[in-house]
Amino acid sequence: MKKEIKAYNNVLELVGNTPLIKLSKLTEEIPGNFYAKVEAFNPGHSSKDRIALHIIEEAERQGILKPGDTIVETTSGNTGFSLAMVSIIKGYDCILAVSSKSSPDKIDMLKSMGAKVYVCPAHVSADDERSYYNVAKRLHEETKGSVYINQYFNDLNIEAHYKTTGPEIWDQTNGQITHIIACTGTGGTLSGTAKFLKEQNPNIKVLGVDAYGSVLKKYHETREFDKEEIYPYRIEGIGKNLIPTAIDFDVIDKYTKVTDEDSAHMTRQIAKTEGLFVGYTSGAVMQAIKQFAEEGEFDENSIVVAIFPDHGSRYMSKVFNDQWMRDQGFFDSVNLEEVQKIEY
Ligand code: PMP
Repeated sequence: MKKEIKAYNNVLELVGNTPLIKLSKLTEEIPGNFYAKVEAFNPGHSSKDRIALHIIEEAERQGILKPGDTIVETTSGNTGFSLAMVSIIKGYDCILAVSSKSSPDKIDMLKSMGAKVYVCPAHVSADDERSYYNVAKRLHEETKGSVYINQYFNDLNIEAHYKTTGPEIWDQTNGQITHIIACTGTGGTLSGTAKFLKEQNPNIKVLGVDAYGSVLKKYHETREFDKEEIYPYRIEGIGKNLIPTAIDFDVIDKYTKVTDEDSAHMTRQIAKTEGLFVGYTSGAVMQAIKQFAEEGEFDENSIVVAIFPDHGSRYMSKVFNDQWMRDQGFFDSVNLEEVQKIEY
């Protein structure tokens, strides 16, 4: 009789069910208990595996996607990588319009996964015909048998996290979670996760993280689109120059904004102190925890879950590159002795 082979049928079976890891050193001085939901453990190394798989499988269920069809999307990199991965396994072509702000390693990775990549200028407005939104729309219109994922305006983005990330965190904390905190780009991660968690316990506090240079925090507070808030910044994947419908602003209690520089240093500190090699926006979330703590948001009983969206390997030419840090002026204001002590 044949013995069982303990193997997965393909990488897609490993999407989701990411671990919750207790943070210790970084949060030592802050009252409360802090855990990171480390999405780098997904096979595509980011939380975007969840939405790529969910949106594509939902399109298949609805008969919108047929074998040999094409997936089209705009992406800062992570969603593209996940879509390319799912496309390979399921036999679709994948076309991606990405921002020129994306790191070269991210773009090379997309190409390695068989995607066709169009690099579009980052510092044009969303309605400019060269913006990656409009380029993707045009590619979709011009490619027969294509599906436009449209993560910023697709309810299935929220639903993916409502069905997976939220229940996982509720289960992992045995329903004891008091705060959920995450960066918002499309807003799908925080909105979907928080929607599920608030249905279980409406007292859970939902904390959003935005970037300086993005309109989201201000929109949350005023429900007005303030163009003055928009200017270039460096973190990829967080903040926006438009209002995505994948953000449910009503489910978010409070926002904070983080700087490129603070987030970059924090990302490096997470690796040095917690042994967690995670991406730039994980540093942004950690920085936000520090800022919320300064506002008195947490106490000894707080059980805080922070979503760390992706893996550090995607930032080798940026945050984890000393020359890049120097070029941004991120080493100018730090005490060099301190820097040497933690071996930057
Ligand atoms: N961090 C990174 C690195 C991302 O790529 C994204 C997605 N744009 C986010 C955070 C934010 O996730 P969401 O789009 O679900 O708000």
